Amino acid sequence: MDPITFDNSYAQLPERFYTRQSGVPVSAPGAIRVNRPLAARLGIDADWLASEEGTQVIAGNAVAAGSLPIATAYAGHQFGGFNPQLGDGRALLLGEVIAPDGARFDLQLKGSGPTPWSRGGDGRSPLGPVLREYIVSEAMHQLGVPTTRALAAVTTGDTVARDRFLPGAVLARVASSHIRIGTFQFFAARRDHEALQLLADHAIARHYPDAMRSDNPVLALLEAVIARQARLIAQWQSLGFIHGVMNTDNMLICGETIDYGPCAFMDQFNPQQVYSSIDHQGRYAYRNQPSIAHWNLSCLAQALLPILHNDEERAVALAQQAIDDFPRQFLDANAQGIARKLGLGALREEDTALVEDLWQLLAQHELDFTLAFRRLADLAHANGNDNSVAALFEFPEALQAWLARWRERLAQDALSPTDRQAMMYRANPVFIPRNHLVEAAIAAATDDSNFHVFHTLVDVLANPHEYRPELALYATPPRPEQIVRQTFCGT
Ligand code: AMP
Ligand code: MG
Repeated sequence: MDPITFDNSYAQLPERFYTRQSGVPVSAPGAIRVNRPLAARLGIDADWLASEEGTQVIAGNAVAAGSLPIATAYAGHQFGGFNPQLGDGRALLLGEVIAPDGARFDLQLKGSGPTPWSRGGDGRSPLGPVLREYIVSEAMHQLGVPTTRALAAVTTGDTVARDRFLPGAVLARVASSHIRIGTFQFFAARRDHEALQLLADHAIARHYPDAMRSDNPVLALLEAVIARQARLIAQWQSLGFIHGVMNTDNMLICGETIDYGPCAFMDQFNPQQVYSSIDHQGRYAYRNQPSIAHWNLSCLAQALLPILHNDEERAVALAQQAIDDFPRQFLDANAQGIARKLGLGALREEDTALVEDLWQLLAQHELDFTLAFRRLADLAHANGNDNSVAALFEFPEALQAWLARWRERLAQDALSPTDRQAMMYRANPVFIPRNHLVEAAIAAATDDSNFHVFHTLVDVLANPHEYRPELALYATPPRPEQIVRQTFCGT
């Protein structure tokens, strides 16, 4: 039996959607980690994946039976400027894996060598970005955020030249699909309406089958993507997650988070926070994420115009109406997220000041975003729980008046204290992939070939909601000298 059940529906689309391309072999592949729970979900034998044969496949040295590797075409707005031709320059779609329950997932290699879309790039990835994506994407999944996932990572035995020579690696990434806003933009920019329609049909069949029954399936597709992105961005905001490179080629139609290049979780709360070394204007700062998502979705609407309606004016009106609903949908999802974080059944209009004042105080006193909310969950119910984070974080005097207001508000809420606290612990994780921990894992692997730090971190983050005092180090904010101020795209 073949170790992976492949289907290649994307590779059956016309040739202008991709180029056929195999991985460019590397010298000495070595397994780093196999994601066993994910392999089980996909019906892939994890032992095979970790074997010599599986390692060769993940490194791009061998093609698994049934796989038709392709590098896909896409375009995108990068930092607001349109690039009509990006494409998989360092990635290969091996095909789609059909899980035992029938669900379809893309299996993609990242760092597998140059493709016709590489332009000047080498098509490779250093070890650091591969580990970073593995750690953060898996953490996001465990935090309940829709995301691409890491199935396996391997070293290549080769070095890649960046500002210094670094060990090379390949990541095997799984997504519901890799169809991006930029994939639609690629064909829209070429006025290839036939391809736009084929791509829309493909995306609808795969992700939004209900849209097929709508009077206007393309409009239903646009509305469904808007709805998913509104919920996704609200989840990012609720966790202090900063994506860092919200270009339209990095937003997926399926609504999963993709591209863990310069991303980071905030330590101290700062709405203007930016980590990406190339984001000089702060375009993708924490507080801008909802409006950038809105802007990106308007690019999707624009790309869909030719197939939205054959009357151009009508098409524009339909697109506009769909796009204009994004802010409301985001604010609704965001309000629900905040209610859960504060332990309330729902936010009321009068709660605006309570919420705004908290953001203000968190920023003014530079409080740790994750621990502040986690401590709030501790305080919601005095149940003698010895797993509180009080030893790591206590609210300063300046917040006592706010806490008193919050307690008064809780008293008017119908939730029982036990249910409230359980909900708050779910909404306020204690373990997030803090930048300094991620950097430490990368440094140990890159500089000392020590993968132990990486493995331990992935294991701790597999259970982000349950505090264990023996893991206090993983919940502790960075010391001043450990603070990571900049992150870099994984090129
Ligand atoms: P990203 O920053 O990962 O979203 O990538 C933006 C574009 O640059 C995509 O078309 C990538 O395929 C391409 N790219 C990034 N890094 C490399 C590389 N090392 N070699 C070739 N192409 C790359
Ligand atoms: Mg990208």
